Formats: sequence, C-alpha cells, structure tokens
Amino acid sequence: MTKKGCSFNGGKCRPIVEACEGCERILDNGNGRYCRAYPDPAAKWRRGTCNLATHVKNGRGRSEANRINPLKAAKRSARR
Ligand code: SF4
Repeated sequence: MTKKGCSFNGGKCRPIVEACEGCERILDNGNGRYCRAYPDPAAKWRRGTCNLATHVKNGRGRSEANRINPLKAAKRSARR
C-alpha cells in the first residue's frame, strides 16, 4: 500500500490486524490503516510473527522459539 493506493497485484490491499499495532509500516490513508510492506497482514501473521514488524524484537526468531519450546518442555516433563 502506498499513499496513492494499493500497488500490489490486483490493486487489493487488506487492512492491518491487531498484531500490527505499533508497527512503523502502518499507513493511514484516510480510508483505513494498511501495511506498506504487505497486501494482506493477516496472512503474514498467520504463519507466525511478521518478519518485517518494527515493533517486535527478533521478529522471526521469537515466533520460532514460541513454537518449538512448548513442545520440548512437554517432552521433558513427560520423561520425568
Ligand atoms: S510490516 Fe508486518 S507488522 Fe508491520 S504493518 Fe505490515 S504486516 Fe503488520
């Protein structure tokens, strides 16, 4: 999304999602708030933390840690 409108394929952009709050890539164009980097922020967050988010530290790393560690912890406690 740019100030002139959506520049992605098909010219369709979707508004940001809750997880985007605080990100510097949010663009308020008067009709709504959109992401400058992605046409569909919801899809971006569905796969984990957005890797271009400016408000989340260690974007991708953190989401991977969150996904893997609970499993490891469960295995560890099952062994005991
Ligand atoms: S870069 Fe990611 S977190 Fe930031 S507005 Fe876009 S989709 Fe949301």
